[in-house]
Amino acid sequence: MVAASDSHVRVRLAPSPTGTLHIGTARTAVFNWLFARRQGGSFLLRIEDTDRARSKDEYTANILEGLQWLGLNWDEEPVIQSARIERHRTAIQQLLDSGHAYRCYASDDELTAMREAQAAAKQAPRYDNRHRNLSPEQQQAYITEGREAVVRFRIDDNAVITWNDLVRGPMRWSGSDLGGDMVIARRAPTDQIGDPLYNLVVVVDDAAMAISHVIRGEDHIANTAKQLLLYEALGEPAPVFAHTPLILNQEGKKLSKRDGVTSVSDFREMGYTAEALANYMTLLGWSPPEGMGERFSLAEAATVFGFDRVNKAGARFDWDKLNWLNGQVLHALPPKTLRDQLAPLWAQRGWGTAGPTADPQWQLDLTTLLGPSLTLLADGLDQAQPFFCCPELNEAARAQLDLEGARPGLAALLAALEQLPAEAPLDTATAQQLLGDAVTAAGIKKGLLMKSLRAALLGSLQGPDLQETWLLLHRLGEDRTRIARCL
Ligand code: GLU
Repeated sequence: MVAASDSHVRVRLAPSPTGTLHIGTARTAVFNWLFARRQGGSFLLRIEDTDRARSKDEYTANILEGLQWLGLNWDEEPVIQSARIERHRTAIQQLLDSGHAYRCYASDDELTAMREAQAAAKQAPRYDNRHRNLSPEQQQAYITEGREAVVRFRIDDNAVITWNDLVRGPMRWSGSDLGGDMVIARRAPTDQIGDPLYNLVVVVDDAAMAISHVIRGEDHIANTAKQLLLYEALGEPAPVFAHTPLILNQEGKKLSKRDGVTSVSDFREMGYTAEALANYMTLLGWSPPEGMGERFSLAEAATVFGFDRVNKAGARFDWDKLNWLNGQVLHALPPKTLRDQLAPLWAQRGWGTAGPTADPQWQLDLTTLLGPSLTLLADGLDQAQPFFCCPELNEAARAQLDLEGARPGLAALLAALEQLPAEAPLDTATAQQLLGDAVTAAGIKKGLLMKSLRAALLGSLQGPDLQETWLLLHRLGEDRTRIARCL
């Protein structure tokens, strides 16, 4: 692994591939990435796959894909934690040799009885360090009994752990609040070292990767206190820590799977753009400097990002803001780019793959018409549907057509349309002329005809600009058919 110079900023995201890329992990990734880019440092990945039963390759793939999609590029080959297990074991042996760790033979039954006694005495649950100072004879007796041992790291109750958190300022923990001596390796026979556990492996790997700053969610604060003791015992310099606020749901509780959409891939499938989601995640806990507004790219945020503007309080998830940002991103896209994103969605429904609706220019003009009203890319499906498929008339449209003068007006318009030379494109001036003539011929108001035309063309009284809608449908030869079916 690369040895970094002291001043070089190296940060990492350390996801566990036990699920898809969660929005909380992605937000942690955003803050790490922004900090690395701002400082001219490196953003690294470590896949924490030591929970072999729950880790899956498909989750690793989902996580990497999600980060890439968001534009969070990393700088070195991802480190695979499970490949480093011998290094973790070596560190545990080092702690055993230096007396910072010891083997604990307490059985599950004994530990359960201990916790029940603590609960009965209204004490906080903790390991009571009962095997901390076993004599060689006592130890031998347990081994002879056939007991296996976990490895525990000594946590002195009198230890005072302090650090200067980049988000939360000076932090202070007491050793007595850390639950007693901590297990760093699972149970195994005494001549072996069992599977190394989270706090130990994170410290060994962060030290080996020369991580300068650990930026992660505030749910890891107690782990940080424990990890600082491990750095000291292993003789490794500790990184700087920054604990970012949690993401909360509408009720102010930690956002969880129960809130429905929590994976980056879910947001993607719902039609959110990577740019809007990344922008939104940056705002989840960070306030941009005055004058920057709320709409910016990751690269723009990276020019000003710092922990001085990261809030301590939890960040409430605000769908309205995310939707607003997504709309802003879509509206700012050049129509051709937007069309190229919509066309594959249309094609999935079998729309625009053959005939006049496959004409790229027609699709571009449709995109130009619909673009300003899209919030999600997926809105471009619902809104485009009546252009690709002749819609049924809804109730309001039928009522509109039943109004006195509506059908005579449309009949007059159809007659005029049929006079036009076939294949002649309809332009705005001609369209206006035709409307005016039909209004006169039928002796009705222009408003009545316009509304009836909308009902006939779109099957609804809602929709985009009528004139543009008509011109687009005319190019398909659809305007006449749709008017004729209403007469
Ligand atoms: N694998 C841990 C997690 O996903 C990493 C925490 C850390 O950043 O140290 O929560």
